[in-house]
Amino acid sequence: MKRVYLDHAATSNPYPEVLDVMRKAWEEGYANPSSVHREGQTARRMLEEGREAIANLLDCSSEELFFTSGGTESNNWALRSLWKMMQSQGSSNAHKRDHIIVSSIEHPSILRTVKDLSDSGAKVTFLPVDFQGLISSESLENALSPDTSFVSVMYANNEIGTVEPIKELGRICHEKGVLLHTDAVQAAGAMPISIRDLDCDLLSFSGHKFGGPKGIGGLFIRKGIDLPSFLTGGEQEYGHRAGTQNLSGVLGMAEALKISTTDIEKKSANIKAIRNHLIEEVLTNIPGSHLCGHPDLRLPGNAHFLFDDIDGEALLLYLNLAGFACSSGSACSSGSTEVSHVLKALGISDQKARSALRISIGYENTEEEVLSIVPELLRIITDLRKR
Ligand code: PLP
Repeated sequence: MKRVYLDHAATSNPYPEVLDVMRKAWEEGYANPSSVHREGQTARRMLEEGREAIANLLDCSSEELFFTSGGTESNNWALRSLWKMMQSQGSSNAHKRDHIIVSSIEHPSILRTVKDLSDSGAKVTFLPVDFQGLISSESLENALSPDTSFVSVMYANNEIGTVEPIKELGRICHEKGVLLHTDAVQAAGAMPISIRDLDCDLLSFSGHKFGGPKGIGGLFIRKGIDLPSFLTGGEQEYGHRAGTQNLSGVLGMAEALKISTTDIEKKSANIKAIRNHLIEEVLTNIPGSHLCGHPDLRLPGNAHFLFDDIDGEALLLYLNLAGFACSSGSACSSGSTEVSHVLKALGISDQKARSALRISIGYENTEEEVLSIVPELLRIITDLRKR
């Protein structure tokens, strides 16, 4: 049976060119980039070429780009170090700067970090979203106060795919002199991004979400922000992030970003057309099916559904048996009874939230294979409803 992989938002499969580049990086750049000998200098040059390439593709300066082990580390670094930085500045300031604003639909790598910060004294505001997952400018304006230390809002949501108005939110933050971090892990490589054009101060991304390897990511830190390092140790990454760099990961991620952003308008329009066709087919053919998230302001490859009277875990298992790899969308909810915090924030009942199915389409999926899930879905859902 041919398998159809429709879980690219969890991890996308690597481009074949990425594997070639990574192998070459291991062969030619095996030495430590911090070593002074010729082999080390070769690795160093390759690393800086990778940094330069990624900076050009994301439209920022290479001095503003730091490599990490992925989105989770980038988010932890950004939030924990912004908090530390603001606390040390706070004592010489009239304002306490002990207030943090995040959206209520952030990834757990943000929400659990914020929980730690609140245990250390941070006062946290969770911005609400509307029923399609959008954050309004007004709610940010109302939440900002002279004590606000920083704001973190994701660029695009990993479950429902809604894309947030980051540029507008950045403008509002900057009018009040507040820094904005955005978790662009789902957006980078899936839609055009120019950091220069975006009004954000820090931005996280991760290689395995756009056809690159796992275990590599990055954090953009706008020039002039002296963010304390998070991992302490050696002086790698210009003293900002200790640990020997993952050279093959960096070069694999650079190659993946190059491929996914070449002709990105055309590619994302193509994926979006397949996605829209899938949504139309599901909503027309499957009774009691509902689309979650925003109809237009969403990641090109994301389709997220709820089904009346269905247990999402059972649905995923039967789809797997039928050859389709999909997800409920929520990392926390797989294998646990926990209901997605994102769907809760949308005002969806616990029972309905348990029926979630996320289909995330990637570069290698054809329209035919994506649409072939619809009759299987109908069959499985009809069977499950009879039980
Ligand atoms: N942020 C978002 C929005 C994500 O979707 C993910 C991964 O699912 C992460 C952060 C964590 O990234 P990583 O898996 O690279 O640690």
